[in-house]
Amino acid sequence: MLLRHTTKDIKERTALTVNPAKTCQPIGAMYAALGIHRCLPHSHGSQGCCSYHRSALTRHYKDPVMASTSSFTEGSSVFGGQANLVEAVSNIFALYNPDIIAVHTTCLSETIGDDIPQIISKANEEGKVPKGKYVIHANTPSYVGSHVTGFANMVKGMVKYLSVKKGETLNTLNIIPGWCEPSDMREIKRLVKAMEIETILFPDTSDVLDTPLTGKFNMYPKGGVALDRLKLTGDSYATLSLGAYGSLPAAQDLDTRHKVRFEPLDMPYGISASDRFVTALKNVSGRPVPASISDERGRLVDMISDMEQYLYGKRVALFGDPDQLVPLSEFLVELGMKPVYIVTGTPGKCFEDRMAEVLKSVPEAKFRSSADMYLMHQWIKNEKVDLLMGNTYGKYISRDDDIPFVRFGFPILDRVGHSYFPSIGYQGAMRLLERILGALMDRQDRDAPEEKFELIM
Ligand code: SF4
Repeated sequence: MLLRHTTKDIKERTALTVNPAKTCQPIGAMYAALGIHRCLPHSHGSQGCCSYHRSALTRHYKDPVMASTSSFTEGSSVFGGQANLVEAVSNIFALYNPDIIAVHTTCLSETIGDDIPQIISKANEEGKVPKGKYVIHANTPSYVGSHVTGFANMVKGMVKYLSVKKGETLNTLNIIPGWCEPSDMREIKRLVKAMEIETILFPDTSDVLDTPLTGKFNMYPKGGVALDRLKLTGDSYATLSLGAYGSLPAAQDLDTRHKVRFEPLDMPYGISASDRFVTALKNVSGRPVPASISDERGRLVDMISDMEQYLYGKRVALFGDPDQLVPLSEFLVELGMKPVYIVTGTPGKCFEDRMAEVLKSVPEAKFRSSADMYLMHQWIKNEKVDLLMGNTYGKYISRDDDIPFVRFGFPILDRVGHSYFPSIGYQGAMRLLERILGALMDRQDRDAPEEKFELIM
């Protein structure tokens, strides 16, 4: 009963967050940076921040996450971190030889007011950046936004520093996948390959954070979008941005800088969002949808129609990231379920507007951005749900209130599978559905009286 102090009595809070449904911006910036081939993320702040961000990612992906830090001490906290960063850039290229360093700030360096573009210029002027190598940056103070906005800021930084327009439009389609698992990025690449569309997916953490065990340490695994490909994004014929929070800012910036038109989409979780993604791929590229993808969709529909009776009317509480919660809630509605309580810690009105659209058929639904898990738990205390979906932190609510729990989102610290098996696309939706059904039917088995305990359900 770790959460025994959660009460039914809900009081509006403005200055207190309890059990936040988000984590800090630099984690997202670090994750995005790992999606560039031979990139070393660099945390401009004190060592503790960098250690926390690395360990959060390492625990979720179960792979070592490399990153460096400006190692602020009392002196840099007072006088600024310029000297530390310039020296760090020089040391990193000399010792670790990345092709690119992606610098993100922390609360401390933002509060001091370090001017990172000016410091990067100084490092370039002093010859600390070898020819053909790059230093890019994103501002990620953690007292605003969340890990999702940190991810978005770094992806936008990739566009700002690296995309080039040479003039000739190429036969490449940019896809910005949003914060999803390496398995999901691999799945997106599989779908576009099946449609024979040439794409530049950025960032791309497949083969970076889901690498095979070979017995040899490789500081820069084979995955990640290549720098040469990133530079071409300014000449692509279009961009598909998946998720309003994680991907849209970079797509808008590409359009503003290089006139690359973009189509904003939801992340393709569930049937309708996957349909919109596949349709957009077809329309923008002119390539037909192959029978293999239609068959995947058909198998998903078949699975739903076989099992719909176990899902109908089930009340679900969800928490996590807005770009995932919107299509996931839409999918649950398609399954006949009722997403009734949904919170994200990430701020932004767009989430609430989209949820209002998606949940038109669930009038009792409550949803809120800039909210915490404590509020969601209070809603649950007032009227129970049949299923809880969210990251590992939900296990306390699940245990205290005896609710079946499906782990989804970031971070997942106590299970495996998320980085290997996709949740995106039709095949991903089948896996999601299998996990939801598993949780609900296990509970039905557990609670059934002996005379109703069935072999065939
Ligand atoms: S919230 Fe700020 S101080 Fe804390 S770990 Fe994140 S960046 Fe560092």
